[in-house]
Amino acid sequence: MSKPTCEESLAQIYLFLDGELDEGTRASIELHLEHCSPCVAAFGLEMELRALVSRCCREPVPRELRERIAAALEEMGRTAASEDGD
Ligand SMILES: [Zn+2]
Repeated sequence: MSKPTCEESLAQIYLFLDGELDEGTRASIELHLEHCSPCVAAFGLEMELRALVSRCCREPVPRELRERIAAALEEMGRTAASEDGD
């Protein structure tokens, strides 16, 4: 199998992360990633996004809790701002 180009590697990101690639294709993409930092960055970003999404999907956040968190964050922001002039 020929070496994948950046374009080919990036086109396979989703399949790669879904574990839907065969062993050979996976190996060649992994090999490409070892030598190509732009692709590593792109893969890393996609992986982070996926981790975030899968976390959120697995544990749906109730709206009430989301609102409490938003309010707490707002409160923290206000407190930090008011204590800033020490
Ligand atoms: Zn690349």
